[in-house]
Amino acid sequence: MSGIDLHTHSTASDGTESPAAVVTSARRAGLEVIALTDHDTAHGWDEAAAAAARHGVGLVRGMEISCSRYGRSIHLLGYLVDPDHPGLATEIGYAREARVSRLRRMVEKMAADGIPLTYEEVVAQVPPGATEGRPHIADALVANGAVANRDEAFVRWLGNDSPYYVRHYAPDPVDAVRLVVEAGGVAVHAHPFGRGRGAGAGDPLIEEMAAAGLGGLEVYHRDHDETARQHGLEMAERLDLLVTGSSDYHGAGKENRLGENTTAPEVLAEIEARASGVVPVLR
Ligand code: AMP
Ligand code: FE
Ligand code: FE
Ligand code: ZN
Repeated sequence: MSGIDLHTHSTASDGTESPAAVVTSARRAGLEVIALTDHDTAHGWDEAAAAAARHGVGLVRGMEISCSRYGRSIHLLGYLVDPDHPGLATEIGYAREARVSRLRRMVEKMAADGIPLTYEEVVAQVPPGATEGRPHIADALVANGAVANRDEAFVRWLGNDSPYYVRHYAPDPVDAVRLVVEAGGVAVHAHPFGRGRGAGAGDPLIEEMAAAGLGGLEVYHRDHDETARQHGLEMAERLDLLVTGSSDYHGAGKENRLGENTTAPEVLAEIEARASGVVPVLR
Protein backbone atom coordinates (compact mmCIF):
# COMPACT_ATOMS: atom_id res chain seq x y z
CA MET A 1 0.00 0.00 0.00
CA SER A 2 1.14 3.49 -0.67
CA GLY A 3 -0.32 6.93 -0.90
CA ILE A 4 -0.79 9.61 1.75
CA ASP A 5 -3.96 11.70 1.54
CA LEU A 6 -4.05 14.43 4.18
CA HIS A 7 -7.50 15.98 3.75
CA THR A 8 -10.79 14.09 4.10
CA HIS A 9 -14.25 14.75 5.55
CA SER A 10 -16.77 12.47 7.25
CA THR A 11 -20.27 12.77 8.70
CA ALA A 12 -18.61 14.60 11.62
CA SER A 13 -18.90 17.57 9.24
CA ASP A 14 -20.02 17.66 5.61
CA GLY A 15 -18.77 14.33 4.27
CA THR A 16 -21.32 11.65 3.47
CA GLU A 17 -19.46 8.66 4.97
CA SER A 18 -19.02 7.94 8.66
CA PRO A 19 -15.46 8.29 10.00
CA ALA A 20 -15.10 4.48 9.99
CA ALA A 21 -16.41 4.31 6.42
CA VAL A 22 -13.88 6.91 5.26
CA VAL A 23 -11.12 4.68 6.65
CA THR A 24 -12.64 1.64 4.91
CA SER A 25 -12.77 3.59 1.65
CA ALA A 26 -9.13 4.61 2.12
CA ARG A 27 -8.17 0.99 2.61
CA ARG A 28 -10.05 0.05 -0.55
CA ALA A 29 -8.33 2.88 -2.44
CA GLY A 30 -4.99 1.40 -1.37
CA LEU A 31 -3.94 4.37 0.75
CA GLU A 32 -1.31 3.96 3.42
CA VAL A 33 -2.18 7.04 5.51
CA ILE A 34 -5.09 9.45 5.59
CA ALA A 35 -5.85 12.51 7.65
CA LEU A 36 -9.41 13.01 8.88
CA THR A 37 -9.94 16.77 8.76
CA ASP A 38 -13.55 17.61 9.44
CA HIS A 39 -14.60 21.26 9.60
CA ASP A 40 -14.06 22.80 13.05
CA THR A 41 -14.26 19.53 14.98
CA ALA A 42 -12.42 16.48 16.30
CA HIS A 43 -15.74 14.68 16.69
CA GLY A 44 -14.85 11.87 14.26
CA TRP A 45 -11.39 11.11 15.61
CA ASP A 46 -12.16 8.21 17.98
CA GLU A 47 -14.29 6.29 15.50
CA ALA A 48 -11.69 6.82 12.76
CA ALA A 49 -8.88 5.70 15.09
CA ALA A 50 -10.65 2.44 15.93
CA ALA A 51 -11.30 1.75 12.25
CA ALA A 52 -7.72 2.66 11.30
CA ALA A 53 -6.37 0.11 13.80
CA ARG A 54 -8.72 -2.56 12.40
CA HIS A 55 -7.83 -1.92 8.78
CA GLY A 56 -4.11 -1.16 9.09
CA VAL A 57 -4.49 2.34 7.68
CA GLY A 58 -2.33 5.10 9.16
CA LEU A 59 -4.28 8.00 10.62
CA VAL A 60 -3.36 11.64 11.06
CA ARG A 61 -5.94 13.27 13.28
CA GLY A 62 -6.65 16.80 12.20
CA MET A 63 -9.30 19.39 11.53
CA GLU A 64 -10.03 22.03 8.90
CA ILE A 65 -10.51 25.32 10.70
CA SER A 66 -12.78 27.87 9.04
CA CYS A 67 -11.15 31.29 9.22
CA SER A 68 -12.09 34.63 7.80
CA ARG A 69 -10.65 38.05 7.24
CA TYR A 70 -12.52 40.97 5.69
CA GLY A 71 -15.32 38.57 4.88
CA ARG A 72 -13.02 36.28 2.95
CA SER A 73 -13.17 32.61 3.83
CA ILE A 74 -9.84 30.88 4.44
CA HIS A 75 -9.44 27.22 5.41
CA LEU A 76 -6.61 26.11 7.66
CA LEU A 77 -5.71 22.46 8.24
CA GLY A 78 -4.53 21.79 11.78
CA TYR A 79 -2.73 18.44 11.96
CA LEU A 80 -2.03 16.55 15.19
CA VAL A 81 -3.41 19.35 17.35
CA ASP A 82 -4.49 18.81 20.93
CA PRO A 83 -8.26 19.28 20.55
CA ASP A 84 -8.52 20.12 24.27
CA HIS A 85 -6.16 23.08 24.05
CA PRO A 86 -8.39 25.74 25.67
CA GLY A 87 -7.80 28.50 23.12
CA LEU A 88 -8.34 26.24 20.13
CA ALA A 89 -11.32 24.45 21.66
CA THR A 90 -12.97 27.79 22.43
CA GLU A 91 -12.49 29.17 18.92
CA ILE A 92 -13.80 26.14 17.07
CA GLY A 93 -16.66 25.93 19.58
CA TYR A 94 -17.67 29.52 18.77
CA ALA A 95 -17.46 28.79 15.06
CA ARG A 96 -19.63 25.67 15.34
CA GLU A 97 -22.21 27.56 17.36
CA ALA A 98 -22.23 30.48 14.93
CA ARG A 99 -22.84 28.07 12.07
CA VAL A 100 -26.19 27.02 13.58
CA SER A 101 -27.86 30.44 13.56
CA ARG A 102 -26.20 31.25 10.24
CA LEU A 103 -27.70 28.19 8.57
CA ARG A 104 -31.13 29.12 9.91
CA ARG A 105 -30.80 32.63 8.51
CA MET A 106 -29.77 31.33 5.11
CA VAL A 107 -32.80 29.04 5.01
CA GLU A 108 -35.09 31.91 6.07
CA LYS A 109 -33.78 34.09 3.25
CA MET A 110 -34.23 31.30 0.72
CA ALA A 111 -37.73 30.44 1.92
CA ALA A 112 -38.72 34.13 1.86
CA ASP A 113 -37.71 34.17 -1.79
CA GLY A 114 -39.93 31.21 -2.63
CA ILE A 115 -37.40 28.37 -2.56
CA PRO A 116 -39.32 25.47 -1.00
CA LEU A 117 -37.31 24.69 2.10
CA THR A 118 -37.71 24.61 5.89
CA TYR A 119 -35.06 24.67 8.59
CA GLU A 120 -36.46 21.39 9.92
CA GLU A 121 -35.71 19.72 6.58
CA VAL A 122 -32.13 20.96 6.83
CA VAL A 123 -31.67 19.82 10.43
CA ALA A 124 -32.88 16.36 9.35
CA GLN A 125 -29.80 16.19 7.09
CA VAL A 126 -27.28 16.99 9.84
CA PRO A 127 -25.82 13.84 11.42
CA PRO A 128 -25.77 13.90 15.25
CA GLY A 129 -22.82 15.93 16.50
CA ALA A 130 -21.80 17.13 13.05
CA THR A 131 -20.54 20.62 12.25
CA GLU A 132 -23.38 22.23 10.29
CA GLY A 133 -22.67 23.71 6.89
CA ARG A 134 -24.11 24.75 3.56
CA PRO A 135 -23.77 21.18 2.22
CA HIS A 136 -26.56 20.18 4.64
CA ILE A 137 -28.84 22.78 3.04
CA ALA A 138 -27.86 21.25 -0.28
CA ASP A 139 -28.74 17.78 1.01
CA ALA A 140 -32.20 19.01 2.07
CA LEU A 141 -32.74 20.44 -1.42
CA VAL A 142 -31.70 17.11 -2.93
CA ALA A 143 -34.03 15.27 -0.54
CA ASN A 144 -37.04 17.41 -1.49
CA GLY A 145 -36.29 17.15 -5.17
CA ALA A 146 -35.37 20.79 -5.85
CA VAL A 147 -31.92 19.85 -7.20
CA ALA A 148 -30.14 16.69 -8.33
CA ASN A 149 -26.99 17.03 -6.23
CA ARG A 150 -24.98 19.28 -3.93
CA ASP A 151 -23.12 20.94 -6.77
CA GLU A 152 -26.34 22.08 -8.43
CA ALA A 153 -27.52 23.54 -5.12
CA PHE A 154 -24.25 25.48 -4.78
CA VAL A 155 -24.36 26.72 -8.35
CA ARG A 156 -27.96 27.89 -8.08
CA TRP A 157 -28.28 29.15 -4.50
CA LEU A 158 -25.46 28.43 -2.07
CA GLY A 159 -22.29 29.97 -3.53
CA ASN A 160 -20.29 32.66 -1.73
CA ASP A 161 -21.73 35.29 -4.07
CA SER A 162 -25.31 34.16 -3.63
CA PRO A 163 -27.80 36.68 -2.16
CA TYR A 164 -28.70 33.98 0.38
CA TYR A 165 -25.14 33.63 1.64
CA VAL A 166 -24.72 34.54 5.30
CA ARG A 167 -21.34 34.75 7.01
CA HIS A 168 -20.60 33.14 10.34
CA TYR A 169 -18.06 33.92 13.01
CA ALA A 170 -14.65 32.43 12.26
CA PRO A 171 -11.22 33.26 13.71
CA ASP A 172 -8.68 35.36 11.86
CA PRO A 173 -6.30 33.07 9.93
CA VAL A 174 -3.18 34.46 11.63
CA ASP A 175 -4.69 33.84 15.07
CA ALA A 176 -5.71 30.35 13.97
CA VAL A 177 -2.16 29.54 12.81
CA ARG A 178 -0.85 30.60 16.24
CA LEU A 179 -3.49 28.50 18.01
CA VAL A 180 -2.65 25.39 15.97
CA VAL A 181 1.03 25.79 16.84
CA GLU A 182 0.24 26.44 20.53
CA ALA A 183 -1.94 23.33 20.51
CA GLY A 184 1.09 21.31 19.41
CA GLY A 185 0.01 20.85 15.82
CA VAL A 186 1.15 21.79 12.34
CA ALA A 187 -0.81 24.32 10.28
CA VAL A 188 -1.22 23.87 6.54
CA HIS A 189 -3.23 26.32 4.44
CA ALA A 190 -5.90 24.29 2.59
CA HIS A 191 -6.45 25.01 -1.13
CA PRO A 192 -4.79 28.44 -0.77
CA PHE A 193 -5.62 29.61 -4.27
CA GLY A 194 -9.16 28.32 -4.59
CA ARG A 195 -10.33 27.88 -8.14
CA GLY A 196 -7.72 29.79 -10.10
CA ARG A 197 -5.67 32.64 -8.72
CA GLY A 198 -7.25 35.41 -6.72
CA ALA A 199 -9.87 33.24 -5.04
CA GLY A 200 -8.06 32.50 -1.77
CA ALA A 201 -6.29 34.38 0.97
CA GLY A 202 -3.99 36.35 -1.31
CA ASP A 203 -0.20 36.34 -1.19
CA PRO A 204 0.28 39.06 1.47
CA LEU A 205 -1.97 37.18 3.90
CA ILE A 206 -0.12 33.93 3.21
CA GLU A 207 3.11 35.77 4.03
CA GLU A 208 1.58 36.97 7.29
CA MET A 209 0.45 33.44 8.10
CA ALA A 210 3.94 32.13 7.32
CA ALA A 211 5.46 34.66 9.73
CA ALA A 212 3.00 33.44 12.40
CA GLY A 213 4.16 29.83 12.07
CA LEU A 214 2.31 28.36 9.09
CA GLY A 215 3.92 25.02 8.23
CA GLY A 216 2.79 24.36 4.69
CA LEU A 217 0.65 24.96 1.63
CA GLU A 218 -1.75 22.42 0.14
CA VAL A 219 -0.50 22.96 -3.40
CA TYR A 220 -1.81 19.77 -4.98
CA HIS A 221 -5.59 20.07 -4.81
CA ARG A 222 -8.24 19.76 -7.53
CA ASP A 223 -9.23 23.41 -7.16
CA HIS A 224 -5.75 24.49 -8.33
CA ASP A 225 -4.96 24.72 -12.00
CA GLU A 226 -1.41 24.45 -13.30
CA THR A 227 -0.74 28.19 -12.83
CA ALA A 228 -1.92 28.07 -9.22
CA ARG A 229 0.25 25.01 -8.56
CA GLN A 230 3.32 26.67 -9.99
CA HIS A 231 2.66 29.77 -7.93
CA GLY A 232 2.13 27.65 -4.81
CA LEU A 233 5.42 25.83 -5.35
CA GLU A 234 7.25 29.15 -5.77
CA MET A 235 5.69 30.60 -2.63
CA ALA A 236 6.46 27.48 -0.62
CA GLU A 237 10.08 27.65 -1.77
CA ARG A 238 10.38 31.35 -0.97
CA LEU A 239 8.68 31.13 2.45
CA ASP A 240 10.21 27.78 3.38
CA LEU A 241 6.86 25.99 3.62
CA LEU A 242 6.08 22.31 3.20
CA VAL A 243 4.08 21.26 0.14
CA THR A 244 1.19 18.86 0.57
CA GLY A 245 -1.33 17.28 -1.78
CA SER A 246 -4.73 15.89 -0.86
CA SER A 247 -8.12 14.94 -2.19
CA ASP A 248 -10.47 16.91 0.13
CA TYR A 249 -12.73 13.85 -0.06
CA HIS A 250 -16.39 14.37 0.93
CA GLY A 251 -17.74 10.90 0.05
CA ALA A 252 -20.64 11.25 -2.38
CA GLY A 253 -20.90 14.97 -1.61
CA LYS A 254 -18.23 16.00 -4.11
CA GLU A 255 -16.47 14.47 -7.07
CA ASN A 256 -13.10 14.46 -5.27
CA ARG A 257 -11.78 10.88 -5.06
CA LEU A 258 -9.50 9.56 -2.30
CA GLY A 259 -5.85 9.61 -3.32
CA GLU A 260 -6.39 11.84 -6.37
CA ASN A 261 -3.65 14.07 -4.93
CA THR A 262 -1.13 12.84 -2.39
CA THR A 263 1.62 14.02 -0.07
CA ALA A 264 5.24 12.83 -0.11
CA PRO A 265 6.31 10.55 2.78
CA GLU A 266 9.15 12.97 3.69
CA VAL A 267 6.61 15.76 4.11
CA LEU A 268 4.45 13.67 6.42
CA ALA A 269 7.60 12.75 8.39
CA GLU A 270 8.36 16.46 8.77
CA ILE A 271 4.80 17.22 9.92
CA GLU A 272 5.14 14.42 12.46
CA ALA A 273 8.52 15.71 13.64
CA ARG A 274 7.25 19.28 14.10
CA ALA A 275 4.14 18.28 16.08
CA SER A 276 4.34 18.08 19.87
CA GLY A 277 3.50 14.38 19.93
CA VAL A 278 0.50 14.83 22.25
CA VAL A 279 -1.61 13.55 19.35
CA PRO A 280 0.60 11.07 17.49
CA VAL A 281 0.16 9.68 13.99
CA LEU A 282 -1.54 6.29 14.44
CA ARG A 283 -0.06 3.45 12.42
P1 AMP B 1 -19.71 26.24 4.81
O1 AMP B 1 -18.57 25.67 5.62
O2 AMP B 1 -21.02 26.03 5.47
O3 AMP B 1 -19.47 27.66 4.41
O4 AMP B 1 -19.78 25.40 3.46
C1 AMP B 1 -18.61 25.24 2.69
C2 AMP B 1 -18.48 23.78 2.27
O5 AMP B 1 -19.32 23.54 1.17
C3 AMP B 1 -17.08 23.43 1.80
O6 AMP B 1 -16.36 22.85 2.84
C4 AMP B 1 -17.30 22.42 0.71
O7 AMP B 1 -17.11 21.13 1.20
C5 AMP B 1 -18.76 22.55 0.34
N1 AMP B 1 -18.92 22.95 -1.07
C6 AMP B 1 -18.57 24.13 -1.62
N2 AMP B 1 -18.90 24.15 -2.94
C7 AMP B 1 -19.45 22.94 -3.22
C8 AMP B 1 -19.98 22.33 -4.41
N3 AMP B 1 -20.03 22.99 -5.56
N4 AMP B 1 -20.44 21.06 -4.32
C9 AMP B 1 -20.40 20.39 -3.16
N5 AMP B 1 -19.93 20.92 -1.98
C10 AMP B 1 -19.46 22.17 -2.03
FE1 FE C 1 -16.45 20.73 3.19
FE1 FE D 1 -11.81 23.55 2.57
ZN1 ZN E 1 -11.94 20.33 3.16
